[in-house]
Amino acid sequence: MMHDYSEEIGRLAEEILDYARRRTELEPIPTGGTATPEALAELVGETITTGGLGGSEALRVFIELLAPNCLSVDNPRFLAFVPAAPTEASILFDLVVGSESIYAGSWLEAAGSTYAENQALRWLSDLAGLGPDAGGVFVQGGTVGNLSAMVGARGAAGARLERLGRPRPNHWVFLISDTAHSSVPSAAMIMDAEVVEVATGSDRRLTGSGVAEALATYGDRVAGVVATAGSTNLGVIDDLQSVGEVCRANEVFFHVDAAYGGAALAAPKARPLFDGIELADSIIIDPHKWLFAPFDSCALLWRDPAQAQVVHAQHADYLSFLDRYGEWNPSDYAIQLSRRARGLPFWFSVAAYGTDAYAESLQATLDIAQVAADRVHAADHLNLLWGPSLSVVVFERIGWGASDYEACTDAMIASGTGFVTPTRHDGRPVYRFCFVNPRTTAEDVDALIAAMA
Ligand SMILES: *Cc1c(COP(=O)(O)O)cnc(C)c1O
Repeated sequence: MMHDYSEEIGRLAEEILDYARRRTELEPIPTGGTATPEALAELVGETITTGGLGGSEALRVFIELLAPNCLSVDNPRFLAFVPAAPTEASILFDLVVGSESIYAGSWLEAAGSTYAENQALRWLSDLAGLGPDAGGVFVQGGTVGNLSAMVGARGAAGARLERLGRPRPNHWVFLISDTAHSSVPSAAMIMDAEVVEVATGSDRRLTGSGVAEALATYGDRVAGVVATAGSTNLGVIDDLQSVGEVCRANEVFFHVDAAYGGAALAAPKARPLFDGIELADSIIIDPHKWLFAPFDSCALLWRDPAQAQVVHAQHADYLSFLDRYGEWNPSDYAIQLSRRARGLPFWFSVAAYGTDAYAESLQATLDIAQVAADRVHAADHLNLLWGPSLSVVVFERIGWGASDYEACTDAMIASGTGFVTPTRHDGRPVYRFCFVNPRTTAEDVDALIAAMA
């Protein structure tokens, strides 16, 4: 390892940077692939050895054997789940973040990077209208973001009951809508709390009147309300205005899960869909979804960060020195301590390209979603069922059962046509497009629709 260290590392640096550059420049991006554990064992064999493979050989194994067996989520024809479309600037800068060894948990150790992360958070916070005191932190993803927010909600609810001289409940309840993301009930389970689905109408939107009714039933047991701004499956945005007003009137914590949809706050034409989000006590938005940043990054924003700090800041003798430089310790605002400066690739990209470019790219994805809905509507073999709602389009292939969808998706992966997975809508198997990539074209959509014929 020590032998010829600098020469070897210099060579490795070139090989790695060269590959990263080539991967970033690929046009078109290959769809990538997947494999069973057995197939990979056969193909790759053992890579952990006592003597080490050497950097070049380990890199070769990755480039030739491992990377092709990962799907390219940034391929313009990857429209399953919620894809990603990181900018070149954000990807390349992620290499820099890794090279810096920044401990981004405290201001003392990471003043410069925290300053930049906070500016990126401020942009999102101002788009939502959370007010001048708002702030937060980039966490791993929406799941940790929701859990951290819900723990904050419970802390606020407990503090309120204490102030009022009323007892804390044995079991807390979170009010949610039926389009809430799976991470919300999962977070509640971790907290030994319950979720109660508030009934919604045919538009699937949570409303203030529904929340008010549930509050009357559950009273002091309610730790908070979790609304969704852009549900994952259908792109539904709850009625944030009426829900927010009811929460305010009842002093109930209001969390908005905008992990996927919140990006569209930056598209002026879409912004009115989010009216009322400024009433939120906390919001999450995943830059790794629709804000063109690499994994993994979720912006968790608090209206009142001091309140969040009460429940999230860790205390230990060896940490107390940090409080002397207590400007803003990112670790204090979520479930975490050590953290990478995972907001920096997003910050760099917004700083480099400017917010106008973001508005344009978001509008481009909203436009292609509309084109896709029109194409689906016009196709004889398809039946448009939902959308476009934000950038989600849901439709059925006339005459197909669940196994037909699965077989079609398998064939699309095998042929490299693209990646679209079946989901369910009103109990039936359906296909769903989710657009986050401004490079997806009408021709891409046509190719996928043709593959479903
Ligand atoms: C994706 C998503 C999440 C979970 O986010 P991760 O980053 O995957 O953990 C939560 N809520 C919504 C609405 C989402 O779309």
